[in-house]
Amino acid sequence: MNDISLQKLVQRISQDDFRKPFLHKALFNTRLQTTGGRYLLKSHDIEVNPKYVEKFGHDELVGIIKHELCHYHLHLEGRGYRHRDRDFRVLMQKVGAPRFCSRIPQSYLVYRCQQCDARYRRRKRMDVARYVCGACKGKLIFFEKIVD
Ligand SMILES: [Zn+2]
Ligand SMILES: [Zn+2]
Repeated sequence: MNDISLQKLVQRISQDDFRKPFLHKALFNTRLQTTGGRYLLKSHDIEVNPKYVEKFGHDELVGIIKHELCHYHLHLEGRGYRHRDRDFRVLMQKVGAPRFCSRIPQSYLVYRCQQCDARYRRRKRMDVARYVCGACKGKLIFFEKIVD
């Protein structure tokens, strides 16, 4: 199977199971290690791990594609596209996608209040000189980076 037939298969599954077109690219990526596939938030493309397909066959491939299409459609519609989101879990069930995890890395920066130890999670870097703790007005410092 090559990228062109993968693209066609993704388009077909999107149309048949989601009733919506897939308008981006689907590609095999041999560098994926521990996941069957992934959805790229920036380009909206879907990548599939060819080793999983070789090993587990066509059903596995269809499962990976359905899973990634759940991320894809929900993300484009501005709905809950993460594994823990309700929208995601409901859609996964509806289309019969497996729950195995082909993860989208999400990173957060955690800031800590020096005075009361309150923690703040931010997607983006924040200028600690310009903000104080919401609870006690103490000074904030960078604490750690989390990927989940
Ligand atoms: Zn996923
Ligand atoms: Zn505080």
